[in-house]
Amino acid sequence: MPERIEWLADGTPYSSRFGDRYRSELGGLAQAREVFLHGCGLPEAWAHEPQWRILETGFGLGLNFLVTWQAWKADPARPRLLHFVSTEAFPASADDMLRAAAAHPELRPLAIQLQAQCWGLLPGVHRLVFEEGRVLLSLCIGDTQAMLREQHFEADSVYLDGFSPSKNPDMWDLQTLKAVARCCRRSTRIASWTIARAVLDGLTQCGFTVRKTPGLPPKRDNLQGEFDPRWEPRKALSSTPFTPVTPSSCVVIGAGLAGAAVAASLARRGWQVEVLDSHAAPAGGASGLPAGVLVPHVSPDDSVLSRLSRCGVRATWQQAQALLQPGKDWQACGVLERRLDGSTGLPAGWPEAGHDWSQPASPAQLAQAGLGGDTRPACWHHRAGWIQPARLVHALLAQPGIRWRGGMQVARLQRDMATGHWQLFNVQESCLAQANMVVLAAGHASRLLIEGGLPLQPIRGQMSWGLHDGLPTTTGFPPFVVNGSGSFIPSVPTDDGMAWLAGATFERDQDSIETRPANQQANLARLQALLPATAQTLAPVFQNDSARAWAGVRCAAPDRLPLVGRVDANAWPGLWVSTAMGSRGLSFAVLCGELLAASLHGEPLPLEHRLAQALSPQRFQA
Ligand SMILES: Cc1cc2nc3c(=O)[nH]c(=O)nc-3n(C[C@H](O)[C@H](O)[C@H](O)COP(=O)(O)OP(=O)(O)OC[C@H]3O[C@@H](n4cnc5c(N)ncnc54)[C@H](O)[C@@H]3O)c2cc1C
Repeated sequence: MPERIEWLADGTPYSSRFGDRYRSELGGLAQAREVFLHGCGLPEAWAHEPQWRILETGFGLGLNFLVTWQAWKADPARPRLLHFVSTEAFPASADDMLRAAAAHPELRPLAIQLQAQCWGLLPGVHRLVFEEGRVLLSLCIGDTQAMLREQHFEADSVYLDGFSPSKNPDMWDLQTLKAVARCCRRSTRIASWTIARAVLDGLTQCGFTVRKTPGLPPKRDNLQGEFDPRWEPRKALSSTPFTPVTPSSCVVIGAGLAGAAVAASLARRGWQVEVLDSHAAPAGGASGLPAGVLVPHVSPDDSVLSRLSRCGVRATWQQAQALLQPGKDWQACGVLERRLDGSTGLPAGWPEAGHDWSQPASPAQLAQAGLGGDTRPACWHHRAGWIQPARLVHALLAQPGIRWRGGMQVARLQRDMATGHWQLFNVQESCLAQANMVVLAAGHASRLLIEGGLPLQPIRGQMSWGLHDGLPTTTGFPPFVVNGSGSFIPSVPTDDGMAWLAGATFERDQDSIETRPANQQANLARLQALLPATAQTLAPVFQNDSARAWAGVRCAAPDRLPLVGRVDANAWPGLWVSTAMGSRGLSFAVLCGELLAASLHGEPLPLEHRLAQALSPQRFQA
């Protein structure tokens, strides 16, 4: 349930939970700018920096974020990338956030964009993307201390906000301030509206030098300071030693979803990226799938896979909205999921924010799928639909800073010890490219490019498809995607006309892409179990062999989660990987691209640290 906010007669929002007004709303924009933005020496401090990272405690109604974003937009010397990481235990509704900005017309266009992305804010980290990926808001929903402990980046500025220390003491106690200090580097600036003695003392104890500064009337004083401890600060990034990197040039091997997403994430940060692929055109591998399903995973215990899949769906959703044409390249039509165990799969007592994602399917939805007589529950996914992955690959590769090179089959990699460069050779031993940094995104073939290999398994899959033209009827087709054991996509526009797709087979340790008649029959059998009425309509097409087929090879790790990050900093310096997308490349690839780029730059991660660890390529090492 979003936090219930009362609106007082003077228009200020009020929390009955804390018996306090939302602080940032007091005194309007001038006050918010004065306390936090100017209090941290911004915008001057970020001028000409490649990135700037702000950590805020207490997102509230988002006013500080909007004010900062607006200042970034207006500044010709703005950093290339602005990270704003904010914790919030009780998120307000998107509508309340918009309403809070109503008094400030200059913020309204930004507030509308914020409102549009503030859905499904379950506990955890949510990455919201603005300004073509150059303003990144990480909303960390949950207890402040726990959320701060999840952070492994160094903040350049800290906004200490929240309800009054007398109303919400936990937010300002020593443990919280210590957790804030752990995210600071020497000279990180801090600002707050409170000058409560306990806060001043606590900050001093944690290594900040703090002072009272004159406030903008009617406020008498504000707090400003810097992190400058007498001791050597413990590195926030202790788990991975981090050396600052300057964007230069790099090579990505593989122009599927994984490679294209990594390339786009790096190019956005200023890298010159060459993407090499053995095929003549991008998306020649598994990502050449005619259309696939974008859908979150659900499980009664809200497993790691479920939480990762939600982060991933959100990331792909944002890119699809930004880069693709709805109805042509993708469709946010929703997905009805039928599970083998006949349950909805949803966690019991899921917070209301979960309903933005997935809910038990309604009888009307079941009836629309021709399953009106079926009494077994099913799950309805709101944030779901189909995508033509090749369209997304092309759109990602079209970003500035990326050079695509087809017909480049990499046979081996070698590191030149003198220069530290990786050299990429073909079978004829011609050097195709060289760079300090190489990202392997070659699907299951990635294992062949590393001595000793990566624990990757090829899993062949064949799907069946056909055109609506020539069918006696399509009226029984569901108006949305249905999945379960197999999937059915009712309508995807192709060059030849509107198409249906059904599939797919799942054949472990096979990497042939020849299509097989037996697999077509297996797909019909799957469809009969999933959607009997639709299967009846399509059965003649399968029986007279006029259903078309497409086959590709998935790449999976033993635990079915992607492999993203440094291969091995000692044995393979500069070699990174993003692969093992399994059957969920549409949900994972974009997220993994951002994760790889964020890890490389020591940035705030687009997901919880412990979820990121679950994707580490090192996880299989003994
Ligand atoms: C039948 C089927 C159905 C699927 N359905 C869905 C679905 O509904 N939803 C979903 O999310 N996912 C689905 N998937 C999975 C999805 O297609 C993959 O997870 C995703 O495309 C993987 O992207 P990738 O970039 O890792 O690999 P790929 O797209 O395979 O890209 C790897 C690229 O590397 C290139 N390459 C390989 N070796 C070399 C080399 N030595 N030198 C140069 N280039 C090289 C290849 O040419 C290829 O272009 C399905 C897969 C299949 C096969």
